[in-house]
Amino acid sequence: MEIRLYNTLSRTIEQFEPVEAGCVRMYSCGPTVYNHVHIGNLRAFLCADILQRVLRIVGGYQVRWVMNITDIDDKTIRDSQPGSAAWKADVMGAQTADPHENLRRLTRYYEQVFLHDIAAIGIRREDLFAMPRATEYIPAMMELIERIWRNGYAYVAGGSVYFDLSAWIREHPYGLLFAVDLEHFVSGARIDADQYEREEVSDFVLWKARKEGEPWWDLVLGDQVLPGRPGWHIECSAMGHELLGLPFDIHTGGVDLRFPHHEDEIAQSAAGYGCSTARFWVHNEFLEVEGQKMSKSLGNFYTLADLLERGLDPLDVRYAMLGAHYQSVYNFTFDGVAAARRARRRVQEYIYQLQEQSGRRSCDVEKLRQQVFAELADNLHTPKALAALFTFIGEHPAVELEPSAQRALLEFFEQLNSIVGVWEIAPRPLVVVPERVRQLAQERWEARLQRDFARADQLRQQIAQEGFAVRDRSDGYDLVPVEE
Ligand code: AMP
Ligand code: ZN
Repeated sequence: MEIRLYNTLSRTIEQFEPVEAGCVRMYSCGPTVYNHVHIGNLRAFLCADILQRVLRIVGGYQVRWVMNITDIDDKTIRDSQPGSAAWKADVMGAQTADPHENLRRLTRYYEQVFLHDIAAIGIRREDLFAMPRATEYIPAMMELIERIWRNGYAYVAGGSVYFDLSAWIREHPYGLLFAVDLEHFVSGARIDADQYEREEVSDFVLWKARKEGEPWWDLVLGDQVLPGRPGWHIECSAMGHELLGLPFDIHTGGVDLRFPHHEDEIAQSAAGYGCSTARFWVHNEFLEVEGQKMSKSLGNFYTLADLLERGLDPLDVRYAMLGAHYQSVYNFTFDGVAAARRARRRVQEYIYQLQEQSGRRSCDVEKLRQQVFAELADNLHTPKALAALFTFIGEHPAVELEPSAQRALLEFFEQLNSIVGVWEIAPRPLVVVPERVRQLAQERWEARLQRDFARADQLRQQIAQEGFAVRDRSDGYDLVPVEE
């Protein structure tokens, strides 16, 4: 099926077509591994995951998906310094005298935590073609900086290298993804920070001069040797080029990355490689918590570990996030996750029932597939796709369907689940009912036969306390486990 995607470059929904027929090359800005990622970050990675799955399953493409690990930038360096609160001596050991080693210990630890987090929310490592660490691509970054410099779009000042934006904007567009504020642009003004505001547009840093106590590498530019380390933006430019080649098909990230990160990435790659970066730029909106921006000061800042501690199932969180379109703000609430849990279970129950009892009704599974996939193909409309599924389920009780329809539906669920990723396409697991519960149920059955309904109710409650519900049939009863 043809895929349509909103492209931030054109600010319209476009029909997607890869540069190379049949194969999509996609780059996602990955985590900065200086601490636990938060659930907003997880939303960004999940949106990219859904996109690559839809491209494969609905679009029929092969996908080469790269997500980088930012293991060197202002924040990772800051938090690998002595006295940092993010440093965990029990797992990282004591701080050493070598800043490279400290950075490595901090970032490798949080990288592991990150890998666990994404696995928990159902992002599969095997779907990723590569997860490059920035520190392992420093030579590629140096080469790109040298190219930009040779092409006349970079200069050295105070031991750092800056992108010469005045030279660039004389001949090229800037602000392709985001309305930057060039009105306040002062030629020659420089910014060293990785992050800055649109009013602060200026020459941005490609290479930062070495500071005492920070990791560094020697960049050679002509006859100059410049000890220092890469700026954040150059990292993605170099890694995308190395691993995917330019231009690749899709670049993803949250809306905050449009500027300066992606805007600068486009300028750098064009200035150095003489090539555009990506054909499609796909940006997810932010996640908020209970209607407010997530922030530590508001006490509504959550990592996945925080949610696990509160007993949430990470796959319910995944499913809840799919309930919002990726271009809308997703309002995370605990009620929302609880509702998602119920909805997810309802589908799971339907999948079990398809395998347990049949009827005589037929149904049009192909029509359902077309409806659900059409919503996904239309700029990843996950909420509409799930709504179509629920309408179908509501209108077609599983046990009424004839066996061949049930088999076709199970196949469809298997395919859909390779995108949604929260169900088990298997028979209901066998549950061992403890002897005590069995006895209580038997006593209840007998009480009912003797029409002692008060006693029967009391026994039902006792059974519930043991974690089971009794479902009466005309000729007996079933015991089913109740969760929560
Ligand atoms: P960072 O590690 O800060 O570069 O962020 C990793 C990814 O998370 C980027 O794609 C960001 O745009 C994205 N991101 C950051 N905060 C949020 C948020 N609150 N909601 C959704 N995405 C976010
Ligand atoms: Zn990036």
